[in-house]
Amino acid sequence: MAHIYFDDDGDVAVLDGKAVAVHGYGNQGQAWAHNLRDSQVRVVVGNIRDASFDQAEKDGFETFGIADAASRADIHLLLVPDEVMPRIFTSDIRPHLKPNQTVVIASGYNVTYGFLEYPPDIDLVMIAPRMIGTGVRRGYLDGRGFPSLVAAHQDASGQAIRIMLALCKAVGSLKQGAVESNCDEETLCDLFNEHFGYVYSLRRAYEILIEAGASPEAAMLEFWASGEEMELARVHMTHGIFHQLELHSQTSQYGQEITSRLTADEEDSEKQRLRRLVARIKDGTFAREWAIEQLTGYPVWKRVRAENMAHPMIAEEERLLKQLRLLERDAHLD
Ligand code: NDP
Repeated sequence: MAHIYFDDDGDVAVLDGKAVAVHGYGNQGQAWAHNLRDSQVRVVVGNIRDASFDQAEKDGFETFGIADAASRADIHLLLVPDEVMPRIFTSDIRPHLKPNQTVVIASGYNVTYGFLEYPPDIDLVMIAPRMIGTGVRRGYLDGRGFPSLVAAHQDASGQAIRIMLALCKAVGSLKQGAVESNCDEETLCDLFNEHFGYVYSLRRAYEILIEAGASPEAAMLEFWASGEEMELARVHMTHGIFHQLELHSQTSQYGQEITSRLTADEEDSEKQRLRRLVARIKDGTFAREWAIEQLTGYPVWKRVRAENMAHPMIAEEERLLKQLRLLERDAHLD
């Protein structure tokens, strides 16, 4: 059983007198910067000179180039994309690190695959939210927080866990619990969740319904545009994955528990496919393939993205987005 840390385990005062650099003012960085500042932590933002840099300044943060921010901080949050993190860390952050300072990653990826080269005299901790950035901010504002997987991967100072928990508390991740983990486990769970095929399973469902004679509108409403999925996601959280079934009609409960088991449990080929996905994550095949894509200008990704964008479901999605004004339901940072 993994240990779970809650609010009583963290003390934000541990961060008193320390400056925290948020390197990368993007999805996660914006949310973390706001949450830390609202918890009275001193924040500086490091970003390349682009629209995110301007936004950070507009939001009232002391904002610098990444190397400059690194030279002013004691704690360094690496919230740039995983693909560029090793390069930016080596060129702009590592030269400014002092012994016993703390480097924080929000994903185990670069450590698991050995891409991040960090010195032995610093603390390296992982605080990996199981939440997109808008949810990190919203959870902080409404007091519910958000869960994360955490690890003190390297503890040079002897203080890594205290600092990690202080940061977790300050960003709001001890309210729902920070689960003790490690980089490899986080990478496995995170990548597998991304690879098992959620978007394609929705598209397959759309294709099958169209094949069976449903209109595109009815098909899209069924599993997306109605917003029922959002409501379902909410009751999954409040009631549990199987207990929430009680909120459905009995026909639906029978269909979900009994009929769908025929496809879920008895389809060995699907299980084999999922096992292959796990093997590719564990033996580094995915990471190698993705690294080659980056080096060669993303040829496969560009082709598949173009094919996907040409799928009829996308046109339907775009039309309904406008027609039903779904964008208004989008979350915004404030
Ligand atoms: P983003 O894609 O939002 O990028 C973060 C920032 O890095 C942005 O300000 C971006 O600028 C900047 N940036 C992009 N390219 C470069 C570059 N070449 N050089 C310097 N800066 C660059 O990242 P995320 O917030 O999504 O991810 C940050 C970390 O958080 C990653 O480790 C990720 O795995 C982890 N994470 C992300 C989650 C998520 O929901 N997004 C969830 C949990 C963990 P610009 O905006 O101008 O592109």
